[in-house]
Amino acid sequence: MKVVVDLTRCQGYAQCAFAAPDVFTIRGDEALLYDPAPDDAQRAKIVRAAAMCPVQAITLERSSRLGRDDVRQPPEAVARAAAESSEEAFKRTGRIVIVGASLAGLRAGLVLRREGFTGSLTVIGDEPYPPYDRPPLSKQVLIGQASARETVLPLPDEIAADWRLGVAATGLDVGSKQVLLADGERVGFDRVLIATGARARPWPNEAEARLAGVFTVHTPDDAEGLRQALTAGPGRVLVIGAGFTGCEVASACRELGIPVTVVERGPAALTGALGAAIGGIAAQMLRDHGVDLRCGVQVTALDGEGKGDGRLRRAWLSDGSTLDVDVAVAALGGIRNVEWLEGSGLAAGVWGIACDAGCRAFDLNGVVTDDVFVAGDVARFPHPVYDYQFLALEHWGNAVAQAEIAAHNMISTEAERWPHLALPVFWSTQFGTEIKSVGVPTHADQVVIAQGSVAERRFVAVYGYRGRITAAVSFNQAKWLEFYESLVDQAAPFPPSSRAVDEPADRRPVAARVPDPPMPYATVVVTGHKPSERRVAAVHRTYV
Ligand SMILES: Cc1cc2nc3c(=O)[nH]c(=O)nc-3n(C[C@H](O)[C@H](O)[C@H](O)COP(=O)(O)OP(=O)(O)OC[C@H]3O[C@@H](n4cnc5c(N)ncnc54)[C@H](O)[C@@H]3O)c2cc1C
Ligand code: SF4
Repeated sequence: MKVVVDLTRCQGYAQCAFAAPDVFTIRGDEALLYDPAPDDAQRAKIVRAAAMCPVQAITLERSSRLGRDDVRQPPEAVARAAAESSEEAFKRTGRIVIVGASLAGLRAGLVLRREGFTGSLTVIGDEPYPPYDRPPLSKQVLIGQASARETVLPLPDEIAADWRLGVAATGLDVGSKQVLLADGERVGFDRVLIATGARARPWPNEAEARLAGVFTVHTPDDAEGLRQALTAGPGRVLVIGAGFTGCEVASACRELGIPVTVVERGPAALTGALGAAIGGIAAQMLRDHGVDLRCGVQVTALDGEGKGDGRLRRAWLSDGSTLDVDVAVAALGGIRNVEWLEGSGLAAGVWGIACDAGCRAFDLNGVVTDDVFVAGDVARFPHPVYDYQFLALEHWGNAVAQAEIAAHNMISTEAERWPHLALPVFWSTQFGTEIKSVGVPTHADQVVIAQGSVAERRFVAVYGYRGRITAAVSFNQAKWLEFYESLVDQAAPFPPSSRAVDEPADRRPVAARVPDPPMPYATVVVTGHKPSERRVAAVHRTYV
């Protein structure tokens, strides 16, 4: 049995933990962790938990097989289609290819079928696994609450599709409408959805990255390998980068009682995502939990120390110090999977593929394409709340929401298409604290603690840019975020004027201290106005 909780909606009310305590657990005040593949014996309790959840965040589904379902249309259907409008005919007998068999690709396939697309659907994924959920890989899997293989996403039977797993797309020929595969095959399409996401940025020195004990966390194999290394009882773990993934790995280490050092070149933890003002609070949280956090320092080399067994022994830091470590985790952010689109003519760059609010890809000249759609981490899209600048996100909630809009638009007439205007929402579970954000915290010059207490680490921070509210971040106060989401949506004046419960005595805004240019592991970035903007490439060239 498969369980997925939409943690962008969860407000930590804990009813699920009362109804099914073997499946759902609350750490600290409201940080929910759950078993994504519970035993069938738990079904009744989980159904009760789902019914009790006030925000309907829990989905329970049966897994299904993946195969090459026969979705070709009978001849009479093809004949009937000829008499219909071209859009209706396409919906009945068209060919859709989805490239990227993960969260966004799967959700798009589901919506296509639910909205009545009965044509042929092909899903191409370079990973050998059925679609799985990544957030548990740096959380439940590392502490042993779930195995990496159990994070497979529910696959409702209705997604009848030809699943081509374990084969990469190597090219897109927009003119002849074909996807080129690594095995030499060409798959024709009428419309294609690009959902190739991002991959982990590896440690830049290839020889050092190959040392046993050096990890990234992106796939089930990564998480499984790291989990085994943690259970072997390492003397010390080094985490390189204090972004969300790095901090979650550090949190798992401390939960397992393992000494951990986090090295961060910025001034605080989570600076790339939340700015240094709130990042300073996160840094104190890490230190209070026994993490040896070193900011303003870089790891310059990883060393196997000549013992010839290819194992990591030591790390060298830019301040001249060394650390004896058995395990190192490079948590350096993601790289968008766009290389396979070289020569396609699409506006693809380091922050992803530019698309319009309807998820249609732009070409390099800024002309919107008709039949190429984009969704998820690989997409870069304009948002009115941010002056129509393009946003690049690595957010679970955006992958789901954008995939749904893209799928709907792929089978709709122009008049029926929807815009993707959802505000970015992100969560991270670490050190018994649920951190959530809505909007773009790095699109800010000031921040104010609007509710709660920093000392008790339960508060809402509201971000502003040039006198308008652009984001809100909560630590263990998710229930208030919906209110602030509406203020971000309206671009309400900053600082917020409304009175709120539990206001701190000092409500003076301070500088948000957002890094400029954005750090490469920022999970949400405002990247500029132009679809073909290349300015951002320089950020990566100057990194490490
Ligand atoms: C460890 C970890 C923890 C996370 N935790 C959180 C969290 O707590 N909260 C949150 O909001 N978000 C979190 N995220 C982010 C979230 O998981 C992503 O936003 C989400 O997975 C994006 O889905 P996607 O389908 O767009 O892309 P992806 O999940 O990246 O999937 C893209 C798929 O396309 C495949 N692909 C790539 N290139 C090709 C090609 N050429 N041909 C065929 N297939 C290809 C990839 O292998 C992959 O399977 C986390 C991510 C990671 C890695
Ligand atoms: S909001 Fe729903 S999923 Fe979240 S803790 Fe409460 S009952 Fe559980």
